[in-house]
Amino acid sequence: MRNLNRRTLCVETACPLCKEVLEDTEHLLWSCGVLRSVWTSLQIKLPHFDASLDYKNCFVSTFLAEDGRQRRLISISLWCLWYHRNKLVHEGVKFSMSKVLGFIRGYDHDTWLVNKNPLLSSGCRGKDIWRPPESDIIKLNFDASYLPEKKIAITAVLARDSRGKVAGTDTYLFEEVGDAFVAEARACERALLFARMMGFRRLIVEGDSLTVIKSIMKKEEDRSVLRPITFHIQCLQQLFEEVTYIYVPRTINRAAHVLAIEGRRRGICGNWIAGIPDSVKLVVENDWLCWIQRN
Ligand SMILES: [Zn+2]
Repeated sequence: MRNLNRRTLCVETACPLCKEVLEDTEHLLWSCGVLRSVWTSLQIKLPHFDASLDYKNCFVSTFLAEDGRQRRLISISLWCLWYHRNKLVHEGVKFSMSKVLGFIRGYDHDTWLVNKNPLLSSGCRGKDIWRPPESDIIKLNFDASYLPEKKIAITAVLARDSRGKVAGTDTYLFEEVGDAFVAEARACERALLFARMMGFRRLIVEGDSLTVIKSIMKKEEDRSVLRPITFHIQCLQQLFEEVTYIYVPRTINRAAHVLAIEGRRRGICGNWIAGIPDSVKLVVENDWLCWIQRN
């Protein structure tokens, strides 16, 4: 940068991130105030250095002294800051500290997941995968476990955000349920009631029952036994800014399915305050892993 400046190829010389000092390699990799506050937020510990030591030595010994996680965070943060610096300089995209930190933490978590689950990640070769919603939208997967001999249904609703994180779960016991279709319709109805209770405004409601989803989308009256329930769902829908229904094959709805099974097995109905069961957590992690590998 100093050389470019001397040859008058570059007018702007101050660091575009902190706007304080000349932008050179030393500044970018080590001393920039913005970089330092990123590191502080990520709790990266810097050892104390002798003032005579140059930045290259400081950087290398900091990097080598840290464990795998900190090394990963240092690498991601440098790459991420450089990316956002270029966005700012060349495209005028405003720099946002919270966005940068969110990205670094998310990327770090994803890398950790992929390293932790090498076997799981090989299980998503198929073309159908669970997809996260856009930001500001919550996706609710619903399913039901039906016991015909007792006429009992346990419904399950699993809400996830755009990062694939669980935003809430709900299981519920219904008695005197006529068939599996009614059970699925009740699960979908619970999804909207639960979303209302949680204060979600924009939703995607996703399930593996084509019959139920078709019945909700239908405008005209029919004599189906599902009609009273799907009519209620249509009324509930008015309470939200946006509701989209998606039909997916069972393989994609696995997290909700496993939650229904767990609810039945443990006899838990209501919201899972004690945390979601490991079996559900595993499917949720795998869904996210397949998604990030695909993208
Ligand atoms: Zn700077």
